[in-house]
Amino acid sequence: MGETIFSKIIKGEIPSYKIYEDKNHYAFLDIAPFEKGHTLVVPKKEYVTIFDMPEEEFEELMSVVRKIAKHLKETLNCDINLWQNNGETAGQEVPHVHFHIVPRSENKKTYCLENKVKYLDGEATNYQKTLQF
Ligand code: 5GP
Repeated sequence: MGETIFSKIIKGEIPSYKIYEDKNHYAFLDIAPFEKGHTLVVPKKEYVTIFDMPEEEFEELMSVVRKIAKHLKETLNCDINLWQNNGETAGQEVPHVHFHIVPRSENKKTYCLENKVKYLDGEATNYQKTLQF
C-alpha cells in the first residue's frame, strides 16, 4: 500500500490542525485554504478517487462530510462550498480521496478555485480550537 501525504497526516507523521477523527475518517484544516476554516475530510483508507471506494464506505464518508459541513456552518455562521476532484485533469493533486469544505460569508460574484488566503500567526490554531469536535 502506498503512502500518501494524507496517510502521513493521519498517522501523525506530518502535523495537521485536526478537527475531527473517527475509526474510518479524519478531517483537518487545508494548508492553503480558499477561506479560513477550509477543511479536508478523508477516509483513512487510501482510495485514489471516489470510484475506487466500495458503495458503503462512500456513503459513510458522505454522511461524515455532511456532519462536518453542518458543524462548520453552525459554528462559523456561514454558507458552505463542498466539492472534490477525481483525477489529474479534474485538478486532483493528492491521490487520496478528500472532500473540501469551504466556509463562505462574503458575496463574491465568482468562486475562483485559485484564490488562497493565509492564516496570520496563531490563527489556524484558533480555528482548530473553534472547529474541533
Ligand atoms: P486537490 O487539488 O487534490 O483536490 O486538493 C488537495 C488539497 O490538499 C489542496 O487544497 C492543498 O492545499 C491540500 N494539501 C496538500 N498538502 C497538504 C498538507 O501537507 N497539509 C494540509 N493540511 N493540506 C495539504
